[in-house]
Amino acid sequence: MEASREFVYQKFTDYYRDPSTIIPATTLAEQREFAYLMFKERFMVRHRRFTEFKTFRLMLAETVPSDVYHSCAYYENPDFDMDKKGWLGADLVFDIDADHIPTTCNKIHDEFRCVKCGFEGRGITPEVCPCCEATKFETKIWACDLCIQSARDETAKLLDMLENDFGFSQDELHVFFSGHRGYHVHIENDAVRSLDAMARKEIVDYVIGIGLKLFEKNEKTTSKKSKSEKGSKFRLHDFGWNKRLKMGMKAFLSNASHEDFLKIGFRDTKKLDLILENRRTLLNRCFDEGYWNGFLGVSDGTWMKLAEYIKDEQTAKIDTVVTTDIHRLIRMNGTLHGKTGLKKIEFPAKSLQDFDPFIEAVAFKKGKVKVCVSDAPEFRLSGETLGPYKNQTVELPVAAAVMLICKRRAEVAK
Ligand SMILES: [Zn+2]
Ligand SMILES: [Zn+2]
Repeated sequence: MEASREFVYQKFTDYYRDPSTIIPATTLAEQREFAYLMFKERFMVRHRRFTEFKTFRLMLAETVPSDVYHSCAYYENPDFDMDKKGWLGADLVFDIDADHIPTTCNKIHDEFRCVKCGFEGRGITPEVCPCCEATKFETKIWACDLCIQSARDETAKLLDMLENDFGFSQDELHVFFSGHRGYHVHIENDAVRSLDAMARKEIVDYVIGIGLKLFEKNEKTTSKKSKSEKGSKFRLHDFGWNKRLKMGMKAFLSNASHEDFLKIGFRDTKKLDLILENRRTLLNRCFDEGYWNGFLGVSDGTWMKLAEYIKDEQTAKIDTVVTTDIHRLIRMNGTLHGKTGLKKIEFPAKSLQDFDPFIEAVAFKKGKVKVCVSDAPEFRLSGETLGPYKNQTVELPVAAAVMLICKRRAEVAK
């Protein structure tokens, strides 16, 4: 193994062998499948069962994996083959990752390259190569403050829905920094445990706003009536998504400028002037009295356009596959992320905005090391601002060096 990987391996070893390292035990550990990626050999060990947490800690200290996972699912026999495990239930898990959020920074710091044909680009890695349709890419991604803030905003929206629309208490919502550039939310109670993949898909659809019906269907009317009387009428009631849209639309209508309306796709400037001149009356009529139709010529289509815009703003951009997969493996709390050397770490849901992962998730707090950095943007770690670096040798705190090496942007200086 080359010297830089060996250096990171040593640091991971120190971490897992240090008795003061806190790795919280999972609930019902004996019913879960454990899995880990071998640091040197780069293969995944799966279907491990640990009846005692002590044995698990011992495995970590001896094996020193680069990444450690456990199943969200509970099984009768977690160490059997997939089809013989005997599924008993699973936690409800959400993953919010900057990988799935279109940020302005990913075009700056993320690169991908098709392993098969060499097609390369910047920004979000495509699922399929547009040139050769291969699905394997080499990626160079970064986590900057903007990435984390985007993920944090999406997580805040998700938590708000889980609490206010689904009725989970804050104590039931376990929130984690993922160790890279996102957040995980785990819910581990009896109410969610037995939900099948279909039921989880329904929850996902709610969170991302799929299947929202914004028209009240009126089947009985005949075809001769005018458009506003016929069939459907735009209206919003007072719970769930309807309430969210109502609040969002009200806030928008109260404050939006001419330009804001144009930005979301309004074209009729005459009608727009009329709306803006009469916005107080319009707000009263619609939001306080509940009359949405016909006033000032604001059509159902106009309301729909605004509702769609508000909806897109308020959906939480979760990785939908993670939540619906009832056998999913998820990174273990307290273990290190092989691409950063940061740890996955839990914090109270109410601290989401204040929790700084670039301080709290730092695992290596001591020492400095000299590295040759090929390329790194400016970044923060443990309260220090470092970089940018380009083809230079610098002495860095160990945590920063580990991160750059894991991201293949630096090597230990000889
Ligand atoms: Zn390709
Ligand atoms: Zn970023």
